[in-house]
Amino acid sequence: MPDIISLLPDHVANQIAAGEVVQRPSSVVKELLENAVDAGSTDIQLIVQDAGKTLVQVVDNGKGMSYADARLAFERHATSKIKMAEDLFDLHTMGFRGEALASIAAVSQVEMKTRPNADEVGTELRINGGKVDDQKACQTAAGTSIAVKNLFFNIPARRQFLKSDNVENRHIIDAFQHVALANPHVGFRFIQNNNEIFHLPEGNLRQRITSIFGKKYNERLVPVDETTDVVKLTGFVLKPEYARKTRGEQFFFVNDRFIKNGYLHHAVNHAFEHLIRSEEHPSYFLYMEIDPKRIDVNIHPTKTEIKFDDEKAIYAIIRSAVKHALGQFNVAPSLDFDSNVGDIPVPDHSRPVVPPSIQVDPNFNPFNSDVTPSRSAASSRETGSSSFKREPVDQNWKDLYTQREESSKEMQIDANLEHHEPKGQVCFQLDMRYVITKIKSGLVAIHQQRAHRRIQYEKFVRLLQDHHAPSQQLLFPINVHLPGGDLEEVKALNDTLHRLGFELEFSGQQAIVQGVPMNLSESDIQSVLEQLVEDMKNEADVFRNDLTHAMAKSLSRHASIKNGKRLEDEEMHHLINELFACQMPYSDIFGQPIVVQIGTEDLDKKFNV
Ligand code: ADP
Ligand code: MG
Repeated sequence: MPDIISLLPDHVANQIAAGEVVQRPSSVVKELLENAVDAGSTDIQLIVQDAGKTLVQVVDNGKGMSYADARLAFERHATSKIKMAEDLFDLHTMGFRGEALASIAAVSQVEMKTRPNADEVGTELRINGGKVDDQKACQTAAGTSIAVKNLFFNIPARRQFLKSDNVENRHIIDAFQHVALANPHVGFRFIQNNNEIFHLPEGNLRQRITSIFGKKYNERLVPVDETTDVVKLTGFVLKPEYARKTRGEQFFFVNDRFIKNGYLHHAVNHAFEHLIRSEEHPSYFLYMEIDPKRIDVNIHPTKTEIKFDDEKAIYAIIRSAVKHALGQFNVAPSLDFDSNVGDIPVPDHSRPVVPPSIQVDPNFNPFNSDVTPSRSAASSRETGSSSFKREPVDQNWKDLYTQREESSKEMQIDANLEHHEPKGQVCFQLDMRYVITKIKSGLVAIHQQRAHRRIQYEKFVRLLQDHHAPSQQLLFPINVHLPGGDLEEVKALNDTLHRLGFELEFSGQQAIVQGVPMNLSESDIQSVLEQLVEDMKNEADVFRNDLTHAMAKSLSRHASIKNGKRLEDEEMHHLINELFACQMPYSDIFGQPIVVQIGTEDLDKKFNV
């Protein structure tokens, strides 16, 4: 029998390999741009015609190639970036498989001109479908220009597979943005069908983001910066109010390479929980620096997916760093409260954010003689919110300070504030919905319902985390009638409810409420319990996974003052106090804004001043 096995010619093998690396014009863009960055360029130009179907060209001012290297660069497994297998684990450059140029040349017509700065003459090379047509000396600028023409000209099936120009252009822009965002210190230009569509001067990351996405991004960015043993994390997230329904800008970079990672994306989403709606996506530009030994970048041919040794730790770091960044931004507001008025405690921005300690007086007893009956259960029934009237406001102010000082010795409250009577602060209610007050640079409007929901939510979370909450004994127990199944649900939750301050007894189809959490008013009890059962049934998964937050969310939803309720001065002051003692005073549990600032400049604009 004759021999039938033969080795594939190189150019055929390259064509097959090309299938992995070169999927569409944007793959060429990515490989050429990354090579140009690796070559130490400071100025890179991308020129594209017809969505890359007729031309993708990259011109750089990097280190160039010698005559011999120019030829070798197009051999498979030709790379200047690794010498031994071990080097694979210690790579800081972009490409390292040494097959991009060979693959690209196998499926297109390539013209390259290159010259190292120190050489007088450069090299010109033409390759057609993987075969070298011509190589000669030439005059050319220092650096390298590679033009890739007529991609897939020799594989009609692949060429037909390309999508419309719009779709391919979108992929090209993505690839360009990924490299440009990963390398803000390099200048880039992008010329599409003879129009310059991006001109990105070299700069820092903030400048790079704004030159790609527009100046308005400048004020949307919240910096993230966290260094740990495992990873150094820097970059920006967008303020929650700019989250989008469609996936917006989501960029992870590892050692300056764009990557996709659904698991880490989830970590960011998790950090935005309660700040944005569930159908919205946060935008972020996050950069990780990790010892290359701890990652394996090469698991995917186009290298956007990577494996980490310690993915769980990185998840936790990302989540807490982003949360921390958002917390800083929320707690240290741009609101700039007027310290002359001194009504609102402003945390010291430079100090670590410390969650406020529990603000319920454990010794509180509604039957104490210094608290008149009108301030206890009876009055909460009228006001619909016991938390407002329990103590005189002045007392509250002092408490707020002492508690904060206790909670963090480091946290100093502006001495100024103590000399001011909160009652001096002007605030009023607008349309029974908004509390308006003055700050240094204008006015703020506070959405009363959302504000109180946020306050209640954080209180319930603290109560649940503190394990043992004081209870407000009811003078007259309340019977709450619940259908059979629902009663069982409540019984099952009895321990947790007890931790919150509920004291329940069960008899027949009734739950007899003897005591309730301090921040709950009697009139809300029935609806709060009914709603809790309802939410538990509808969101069983959420309750199973995160009982504390699910309970707090449910309870706060129905135990807060509503729009349309008139607030007394004292109540408004108390609301403002408590709101700004919250960890996240600026958006409610559904990600809606709570506070809106109307600056002097806004008024100036209205008056054409
Ligand atoms: P890799 O980037 O994985 O090494 P490539 O096929 O992309 O493989 O490139 C092969 C080699 O060609 C690179 O290692 C580098 O030495 C050289 N090279 C490619 N592009 C450039 C460029 N723009 N400037 C200088 N050298 C380049
Ligand atoms: Mg490369």
